[in-house]
Amino acid sequence: MSLIEFEQWEDAFELLNPLNNFTFERQRVRVFRDPLLGHTSVYNPAIEDGLKVFLGDVDEAWLKKLAEDTEQNCLFCSARQHLLARYPDGFIDAGDVRVGEALAFPNLFALAGSHSVAIISRKHFLRLEEFDPALIRDAFLALQNVARASDRKNPDYRWLSVHSNYLPPAGASQLHPHFQMLASSQPYQHQAQLAAACQQWQSRHGEPYHACLVKEEQEKQSRYIAATGPWHWLAAYAPLGSNELMGIHETQGDFLELSYEDISQLAAGLSHVLAYFGHLGYFSFNFSLYALRHAEKEDGFSCVIRVMTRQNPAPNYRGDDFYLQKGLSSELMLAHPEVLATGARGFFNN
Ligand SMILES: [Zn+2]
Repeated sequence: MSLIEFEQWEDAFELLNPLNNFTFERQRVRVFRDPLLGHTSVYNPAIEDGLKVFLGDVDEAWLKKLAEDTEQNCLFCSARQHLLARYPDGFIDAGDVRVGEALAFPNLFALAGSHSVAIISRKHFLRLEEFDPALIRDAFLALQNVARASDRKNPDYRWLSVHSNYLPPAGASQLHPHFQMLASSQPYQHQAQLAAACQQWQSRHGEPYHACLVKEEQEKQSRYIAATGPWHWLAAYAPLGSNELMGIHETQGDFLELSYEDISQLAAGLSHVLAYFGHLGYFSFNFSLYALRHAEKEDGFSCVIRVMTRQNPAPNYRGDDFYLQKGLSSELMLAHPEVLATGARGFFNN
């Protein structure tokens, strides 16, 4: 019997559609509720037909010019990296952390007690298909090094997360590919909600929620994509962002306890996800990886990464975070999760 309740409901909306000579139309609006956190996501098949209105076309010539223009003064390009902030002596004596092409350094405008940036590539601009697993792995390894230093200085910083904003529609102030890591002694709202829900599930059912989710999704097959090592990848039932795909570590909730192999397999999966998004015609994305330092069995917490697409870049692009997200904490689903999972599977088989 299924422990997890995948709740959804449907409403109908009637209109005379000017796109079809004002003929009567009934649109089906289906709302999906996240089984763990309760947030909602809405799907209307009619939107898939008019997807271009929501996605926008990529203006490749404009994007190429934006990349060329911003490269001239980019602080993240090798020629100007000496101008970046550095860690104080005693924290990281070298001032920064370099692994392969990755360079981790302090964020100039911190949003938490510990806030770092990791440049992931020498190249100033990458298409999503070019986020190579080795580049991603080295950026995570560089950030893990910083997290170790942060943990020595502030052992009470249990709340750690790694994120990316790629390209201006995703909120990036720098175009150059980079990740960010936050750590603090108190959780931000989503972390607190996630951890509390995981703990409650563990105490009620005696096993972690995300382990149950992986097991049920693997049995159903419809939203399960593939595994890379200990990471299981699936399409989110109720996404927090467009086209959201999730990666779940089988057992480990502590970012500092992830082995080299764990991080390599995380990078492999994330690279496949981004290649799939690139194939679908997207250029911009966010991800968030949630971790909990010293996660114990009773916390029922596993590392989870959520990867989502954003509005495509073009001059005067339309913001895709509107009242639905900002005011109603809900997300618009551009595709059915089962359809996304089916498409993504092909990108995990190479
Ligand atoms: Zn650059």
